Amino acid sequence: MTERGRPGEKGGGPPRGHAGGGAKLLLSRLRALMANQAQDPKRLERVVELIASTMVADVCSIYLRAEDESLLLMATQGLRPEAVGRTRMKENEGLVGLVSSTARPLRLTDAFSHPRFSYRPETGEDPFHSFLGVPILRGGRVLGVLVVQNRTERVYDDEEAEALQTVAMVLAELVAAAADTISAGLRQTRPVELRGRTLNEGLASGRVHLYDPVVPPARLFAADAELEERRLNDALESLRNSIDAMLTRAGPVLFGESRDVLETYRLFAHDPSWENRLVEAVRTGLSAEAAVDRVRREHRARLESARDSLLRERLHDLEDLENRLLRQLAGDDGEGRIAPPGSILVASRIGPAELLEYRDAQLAGIALEEAGAGSHAAIVARAMGVPAVGALTGLVTRAEDGDLMIIDGEGGLVHVRPEAEMVSSFQARVSISEQAQVELSRLRDKPALTTDGVEVDLYINAGLSFDLDHLDTVGAKGVGLFRTEFQFMASETMPGLDEQANFYRSVIDRAGDRPVTFRTIDLGGDKIAPFMGRREREENPALGWRALRMALDHPFFFRRQLRALIRASRGKTLRLMFPMVTTVEEFEDARRLLDSEMEWAIKFGRDLPNRLQVGAMVETPSLAFSIDSLKGKADFLSIGTNDLMQFFFAADRDNARLAGRYDLLSRPALRLLQRVRQRADEAEIPITVCGEAGGRPLEALALIAIGYRKLSMQASRVAPIKLLVRSLDLSALAPRVQGMVDGGEQSIRNAMLSVATELGLKN
Ligand code: PEP
Ligand code: MG
Repeated sequence: MTERGRPGEKGGGPPRGHAGGGAKLLLSRLRALMANQAQDPKRLERVVELIASTMVADVCSIYLRAEDESLLLMATQGLRPEAVGRTRMKENEGLVGLVSSTARPLRLTDAFSHPRFSYRPETGEDPFHSFLGVPILRGGRVLGVLVVQNRTERVYDDEEAEALQTVAMVLAELVAAAADTISAGLRQTRPVELRGRTLNEGLASGRVHLYDPVVPPARLFAADAELEERRLNDALESLRNSIDAMLTRAGPVLFGESRDVLETYRLFAHDPSWENRLVEAVRTGLSAEAAVDRVRREHRARLESARDSLLRERLHDLEDLENRLLRQLAGDDGEGRIAPPGSILVASRIGPAELLEYRDAQLAGIALEEAGAGSHAAIVARAMGVPAVGALTGLVTRAEDGDLMIIDGEGGLVHVRPEAEMVSSFQARVSISEQAQVELSRLRDKPALTTDGVEVDLYINAGLSFDLDHLDTVGAKGVGLFRTEFQFMASETMPGLDEQANFYRSVIDRAGDRPVTFRTIDLGGDKIAPFMGRREREENPALGWRALRMALDHPFFFRRQLRALIRASRGKTLRLMFPMVTTVEEFEDARRLLDSEMEWAIKFGRDLPNRLQVGAMVETPSLAFSIDSLKGKADFLSIGTNDLMQFFFAADRDNARLAGRYDLLSRPALRLLQRVRQRADEAEIPITVCGEAGGRPLEALALIAIGYRKLSMQASRVAPIKLLVRSLDLSALAPRVQGMVDGGEQSIRNAMLSVATELGLKN
């Protein structure tokens, strides 16, 4: 090992052996350099010189991402100076590309033997064997790569790798602050088009509001390390106290095991190794915020590449704690950032409850990286009535806070930083679509009657009280599905009896004479209410302890909801249905609880509905094959196609990769649906379809053709479906669709498309 000292550098050897010593020395030199030469155009060169000398490396180089995503050599100490500004590694090229694509440090004693080694003669790199590269990370994005190399086969130790990562963080801020002068490519400027899937139709444009932006620390360095350590400790203590308070506040929580999970969360907050990493980072001379940020960047980078779901959960937990800690340090009260009205919310993944927090934010649109069209986040987006697109791979690293974005909820794509031409053609489309809306609104008071005189009843799906306003604007018959869990998901604490009853009452009042079908609480799976804490991880949450299963296991809480519904329906009809019924016995158990609540209300002379109608949602194949047994027990049925299809095709509705792989417009699915409809008719039980399929033109056509006469859908779909129904000759369509269901192609989508084209439909 030939470690070179440098003239003028006192004690040039790496100060190993004492905690954080290497990082500390490096940082203090870096700090001095930055303080003296903040505006020096050559400061990157000074930085590499400084790192090389402090770490006794033969080479230190900085590569930064250019506008075309390649990594450009921006400064070097040890490689040929002529290579600066010339040597460019493609995103996936060489060891530098590997560090960039994995966003993780890479340590090699013999770089030549690595399969990814790529030789660049212009750099004169031949004699260098050992390699240590770390990503320069900011905002979940790799801005570049910092590399040190030595001639000999040197082993870089953990401490050196740590030190270099800390320097990379400082560099990231330095580079970002000077993006104009150092690299124009850092602030993304190029327009990007990303294709995903429509979650909610419509067109929108607005400024990007990142759901979870990485806010850089206000101060990188600490003037007084001891004071900084005290600040960190104080913040840690407040964080722990706030978690304890959460545990206490949760009180007699609804779900037994949530306490265990909160306890686990508390354990993380007390984890000594986590604390040590933070304290060590502060001892290197970073500010408390920068120390937390330093550890958080690492967790985030690991999260980007982690595949194991347990590890991902843990990293999410840690990142969450680090975010809380940063808020503590900033004296933040923990409230989320406010999205300015007209923003487009951009997130990698977001749960339905978190999305509901934006219900009053007047968002223009929503763009998500992970959500599929059937996910509950998508349903909430629809309930909020804003155009939304999901399954947009790479979205979060492409879009930056404040970027202009166009959401094309018709084509299922987004344009980030669109060019002027794109913006003007988009505006033209917006005005055409506004005209179309005006046309559609003329249908408001007309019935959904086919040309041969068959009426199809159209209802809206709702979950927020302002959804009820749509009843009038679109001219629907009533609410076919009211998702009561939205109220729970939007509350910090479990809503009490009065709160629930008042809310249901307001919904009933706003609906006037039109019926409202309340669906009892459907939590679990991905629908988690804040007061539930984080529940134990289930291997298959969609198939797990959710909806009616959870309600039946907690009769006290379930009965409270039933009582609230009974009270709210005073003097009116109460229509309620149970979600995710799997067996007839479950339906009977739920019904018994309802009956005993009714008896209680009668016995104590409480408010009562004048009529009760109790239904079951058909969402599991098991219940789909039990319709005859519900005769005389259920007053009505409602098919939740979102869940029924996910279970029928064994395809997770939240998984964007499976979106579009299975289709309701296929023989097996339509045969199932037709059979259910026939059995319901035989048992004389009225049946509705309330899944999202009812609002899609081709699916609605097929459902009507196989005999469904009641469809419930998001409000914005009512007018277009009404228009469709009014152009339909059912006596011609029904036998045609029946032929497709009985034989021929497995998929009947193309055939339905031809039908739609003949009817003059655009989509
Ligand atoms: C369904 O599953 O189709 C349904 C209507 O319920 P949710 O989407 O709320 O699960
Ligand atoms: Mg469902």
